[in-house]
Amino acid sequence: MSYDNDNIFAKILRGEIPCDKVFEDDYALAFRDINPQAPIHVLVIPKGAYVDMDDFSANGTDSEIIGFMRATGQVARELGAVHGGYRLLANNGADANQEVPHLHVHIFAGRNLGPMLKRFDG
Ligand code: AMP
Repeated sequence: MSYDNDNIFAKILRGEIPCDKVFEDDYALAFRDINPQAPIHVLVIPKGAYVDMDDFSANGTDSEIIGFMRATGQVARELGAVHGGYRLLANNGADANQEVPHLHVHIFAGRNLGPMLKRFDG
């Protein structure tokens, strides 16, 4: 899939729509999810134009990938999520129900998060 410059996170990165920012550096921006699923629910996105983890892992530069990973860990630390624990989740593509076509990693924390996925009975 090619990158859609009009996706909502691209607009947030360009400052065209607001976000509840918690962190920013050269490689990443982190902001609170508009529809939180946990007491702490923050999205971390790379500054570069990458559709998803597949795109980023294949086409991101080493600096971008390292910078994004370090930023994600730093955000979790700054949110106070390390002691109690946290979950990272990145939906990639159709079966994962990815809604926004700009790579984002969800950070969930602040309560016991339960099982990772709904039970697979198939
Ligand atoms: P995903 O299903 O992984 O693509 O998740 C997209 C996430 O983006 C959802 O959890 C939405 O609640 C969140 N979201 C969508 N629009 C915004 C926005 N303008 N600001 C913050 N979070 C948003």
